[in-house]
Amino acid sequence: MVRVALVEGMKPNYPEPERQRYRRLVKQYLGIREERIDKLFNLLEVEKPSQAQKSFLNDIIAQAAYDSKYWSSLDYEHLKKEDVIIEYNGNIRGIARLLQGIDESKVIFVPSIGERAVTPEDEPDYFKHVDWRNKLVLNGQDVVRRFAQDRGIVLSGKYARSGQIPVEDFHLLEQNGFYFNEALKTAIDGVLKEPEYKDRVISAMAIKRRDGTELRLHPHDFAEAAEFYAYCLRYNPKIVETLGNKLTQLGDKYHGANTFNVPKRMPVGSKLYNEVEIHYIPDPQGGGPYPLDWMSTKAACDCPHALNMRNFEVRKGEMTRVVETMDTHVNMVFLAMIHKKKIPLKQAVNNMSPVPTPEFSNFVDKARYNIVQEFQVEQENGTKTKRTYVGEVGIEKLVHELAKSPEWGFGRMFSSGGKVIKILKPMYI
Ligand SMILES: [Zn+2]
Repeated sequence: MVRVALVEGMKPNYPEPERQRYRRLVKQYLGIREERIDKLFNLLEVEKPSQAQKSFLNDIIAQAAYDSKYWSSLDYEHLKKEDVIIEYNGNIRGIARLLQGIDESKVIFVPSIGERAVTPEDEPDYFKHVDWRNKLVLNGQDVVRRFAQDRGIVLSGKYARSGQIPVEDFHLLEQNGFYFNEALKTAIDGVLKEPEYKDRVISAMAIKRRDGTELRLHPHDFAEAAEFYAYCLRYNPKIVETLGNKLTQLGDKYHGANTFNVPKRMPVGSKLYNEVEIHYIPDPQGGGPYPLDWMSTKAACDCPHALNMRNFEVRKGEMTRVVETMDTHVNMVFLAMIHKKKIPLKQAVNNMSPVPTPEFSNFVDKARYNIVQEFQVEQENGTKTKRTYVGEVGIEKLVHELAKSPEWGFGRMFSSGGKVIKILKPMYI
């Protein structure tokens, strides 16, 4: 991450003295001929590089990639003095604020993102034991209450001990258009901004199904899915439906089982796929007889990441049912569907993969690439400093923290029109 930031800082959008400082630092830490770094420095200013310049750029990008062998080991103390690394010991709210204020040429070092540091390798375990306090349930009591309150609807409020929505309330919600988008909007604009949520660290969104099982959602996947979908459109790996006909303009709207091959996140030209299976997907456009179908969505992906998170959850010391996660690949199927059916974003009220604004996408990007958790781990002979990027858990906590701040409403996070313009940086694929 620090290496990416160092190269980033040479770009022409930064003030000249800062660019010069970064050029000096890159020369110090990247073991390639200095003339090549100078050439790169100048080329970054060229708007339309020639073919020869492009091939030089590709070549040097490979040499300067964060995992290339040409980098010498970084002196973190030195880079703190050079103002590339910003040390911060604040709380999660402060981290979310700081992250908004930095450019991609800075890296923030923190001991943890909320509560405790979760290393990327501990994440599958963390997600199996997410406490109720760390979840935001989109069809849970808080969101439903707020939705009704905002519209002056009087609910019976007779929730079962399981937290299930009473049948009469369910019908009222149906009549008042409690679509997925409305639930998410209520969660972001209302519930997350309530004082009860101020000190609750949220690491996942969830939908409770009527049978007691749960579907997890991670809003940073909304940003990843849109970026990756845009990438696939540009470079042409396609999402292929292998069972059903949802990806056609007039095909099935909802219900039934459908399977899809979704490209893996691999370099251009590879033909590897994950299989996504979806049941009871809602009609994204709404207007159908069952607007609350999103609460019954069953979706699963066979990529190792999603499989790892699909596990029995332990609740109050007892094994309960399987938790599934709507991951990036599942989200992409939603995007493909509204694209193929030519549904304008404004009308896609049950699009379960809302399209991020470039501003929100940029925040997620910085959470991925511009923060390092630095903490001590116990070892046989004393303690050792460990540095790791912020994995999904930390990014999720930050995204929810962002959504708690008054300046970030649903409309600033998600687009309700227009096109998805941002694509993933090829270097990170
Ligand atoms: Zn997947």
